[in-house]
Amino acid sequence: MKKHPLPYVSRRKMPVYMLVLHCSAQDTIGMIEVMHQYKVSSHYIVGYNGEITQTADDYDSAHHAGKSFWRGHEDLNQCSIGIEISNPTLGQTEYTKEQIDTLIKFLPELIAKYDIKQRNIIGHSDIAPTRKPDPGIAFPWKLLSEHGVGVWYDINDAGKMAEKDVAKLLNIIGYDTRTEESVLASCYAFRRRFLPDEVKIDNDIAHLVNNVYPVGDKSLKEGKKFLNALKAVAYKYLNM
Ligand SMILES: [Zn+2]
Repeated sequence: MKKHPLPYVSRRKMPVYMLVLHCSAQDTIGMIEVMHQYKVSSHYIVGYNGEITQTADDYDSAHHAGKSFWRGHEDLNQCSIGIEISNPTLGQTEYTKEQIDTLIKFLPELIAKYDIKQRNIIGHSDIAPTRKPDPGIAFPWKLLSEHGVGVWYDINDAGKMAEKDVAKLLNIIGYDTRTEESVLASCYAFRRRFLPDEVKIDNDIAHLVNNVYPVGDKSLKEGKKFLNALKAVAYKYLNM
């Protein structure tokens, strides 16, 4: 592992209990330049060749999450490790095999080291659904779950979940449901992660960055497939 310490860190106020996955349309060097430009940081960067560069110590809080929310908590930089992964389309096209091999090996090590619960392994879009599209629909959540990284679901569990209210189901998982807009944005973040085939690819990256989700689209809360997946994921969260 390479090391390239960045100064944009502060001492943690809380122990690590969360893992946040990101992606950026830059290689490792480009990402470090951007971090200097905006005075932000992550703990690790995974380049296209799968090589890891550590940019902050785990015991420091890096500046990667921004305004965020998960399971009732905010200021998630304090309790999380942030990992940036290079992807030229902000996670809309496949990650490289080398990157996936690295994630399958490295993330379980971090999870074991800090005893990170599966419910707290999340994407940036899960904790900032109105602002962030990363790590995108191509992030291999299902595959990683088979290697002990993050929650996936069994659609047959949908029938075991009596709750039908979309906001309540999102809240069980951990999404921000404090306003109607945050519910809609969280519906989209959920689709990105758990129903990626249902989310349209936006080839215009600049447009995607400024239009993270279809603002005000009430149909985001609808659809049998969506509701069943939501119920199945919520069931998993309730039974972990
Ligand atoms: Zn991010």
